[in-house]
Amino acid sequence: MDSLEQVLSGTTVATAFQQWFDQDTTAIVTGGAGEIGNAIVRLLGSFGVRLAIFDRDPAKLEQTYELLKGEGLKAEYRLCDVTNENELTESVSYVVEKLGVPSILINNAGITRDARYNNISSEAWSAVLKTNLDSAFYCTKVIAPHMERLRRGRIINISSRAILGTPGQANYAASKAGLIGLTRVLALELASKGITVNAVAPGWIDTRMTRNVVPESAERAINQIPLKRAGTPQEVANVVCFLSSNWASYITGQTIFVCGGRSVGLVSV
Ligand code: NDP
Repeated sequence: MDSLEQVLSGTTVATAFQQWFDQDTTAIVTGGAGEIGNAIVRLLGSFGVRLAIFDRDPAKLEQTYELLKGEGLKAEYRLCDVTNENELTESVSYVVEKLGVPSILINNAGITRDARYNNISSEAWSAVLKTNLDSAFYCTKVIAPHMERLRRGRIINISSRAILGTPGQANYAASKAGLIGLTRVLALELASKGITVNAVAPGWIDTRMTRNVVPESAERAINQIPLKRAGTPQEVANVVCFLSSNWASYITGQTIFVCGGRSVGLVSV
């Protein structure tokens, strides 16, 4: 990558942006057929990154794939339950063969099963923990050894502002807070291999996850956001893309909130 001096002394801004990613970079995005996942794959793809999308709904996967193909992006998709280590191992082998060794992993697949603590069944507790937290551990365990051999990599875990406390989300907040602990430890363990590990914690983002909330609660939630609006999947993707890029080479073990200022506090005026 050019230094700032080199960039300023002649290289165009467009070229500078191209330097965000090495040629032949492959990224795996879990939950890539979902709304935030979709924004992430399309943005990474626009930088020439080859995409592998893991998701569990064949119709949504097919739709995302067709969209990417229509935009001329190079992509493969795999029907894969990310809570299943065997399916993951098979899917990663497929990606390595078809697209090359992945140097970017975005652990984005996630679910909610909201209820007050005393109404969370053990099934709902473990489904959320398995999908949101265990899957990130399994994916990393399968994919990071490939990155170690490459001696470069970027792992981004999609956490949530809910870790700061949202009533009705004990299981979700626990899973997303667990992701931050995982991020910090992996950052330490993988730093010497040239791999950075960071978390992105979105706030209230306009996707079906928030659209399903009753209007009065949604209005209250938006009112508590300093920027007074929901975020967009694109605004999350922008940060994920930056952290995945060469330009974020000195950032590891961090959690970046993308929440319109809601992590700072409540608006009182
Ligand atoms: P979506 O439901 O649109 O995307 C999540 C995707 O993950 C879906 O396609 C879902 O499939 C898939 N998925 C779930 N479980 C599995 C599994 N076991 N194996 C493979 N794929 C799976 O939600 P968002 O785009 O809104 O959320 C993306 C991430 O961002 C999540 O981790 C979420 O927790 C996080 N987030 C979202 C916020 C928001 O306001 N929207 C705020 C903070 C964090 P299916 O449709 O079948 O469930």
